[in-house]
Amino acid sequence: MRCPLCSYLGLSVAVASAAVFVAAGPAQQTAAKKWEVHDMKRPQPAMVSASDHTAPSDAIVLFDGKDLSKWNGNWEVKDGYFQAKAGSGNISTKDGFGSCQLHIEWMVPASCKCESQHGCNSGVFFMGRYELQVLGSNPNQTYVDGMAGAMYGQYPPLVNACKPNGEWNTYDVIFHAPKFKADGSLEKAGTMTVFFNGVLVQDHSEIWGATSHAAVAKYSAHEEKLPISLQDHGDPLCFRNAWIRPLAN
Ligand code: MG
Repeated sequence: MRCPLCSYLGLSVAVASAAVFVAAGPAQQTAAKKWEVHDMKRPQPAMVSASDHTAPSDAIVLFDGKDLSKWNGNWEVKDGYFQAKAGSGNISTKDGFGSCQLHIEWMVPASCKCESQHGCNSGVFFMGRYELQVLGSNPNQTYVDGMAGAMYGQYPPLVNACKPNGEWNTYDVIFHAPKFKADGSLEKAGTMTVFFNGVLVQDHSEIWGATSHAAVAKYSAHEEKLPISLQDHGDPLCFRNAWIRPLAN
């Protein structure tokens, strides 16, 4: 019996296996992870059903179009979405989350007038402190590390994928929480990967620290799980279809 690679190389399976495996050492690499290459005993991934327009079957739905029972705060629920109520403050999930996959959709009402950081500003704050900016940015000139898809004050988005006011935008985020040592110093920085309307705008960007305005962000040690907040910046931003999948690390 010959495999395609073996045929190409003109080698027997046994010779090819020895040559390739000894050279690359995959068995050695996986030993530390308990499993051999192609190990049939390796546990199967959990089955998850998903479609383009609904939360995956293993997701925690944070807003299903009807109520804000998963949130603390005083924003308004409307027809299938909820809206920031100016002056009412941020809202935060009742549960805490660390590393996660988050899906959330947002819209700047067509009636809003964007002027740099004013008129159409909100934000998704992971762990209540690491902001992925929400801002009407089509069109709206502002500093680039504060536009939609930016990690505020740290990284501009790779491209501007924002839709015009009045249209719904989608964020799909992989957030990895930072890790801290027992003495409170940073062990490993957090990261964000962000797809904005399906377009990559943050590629495993390493978080500098807790978001701050007009200052370099710094870390301070915190719990492993904390609520996600949405920012009340005084503007009537709308959100819908929010779900989250906690990640192991
Ligand atoms: Mg903001």
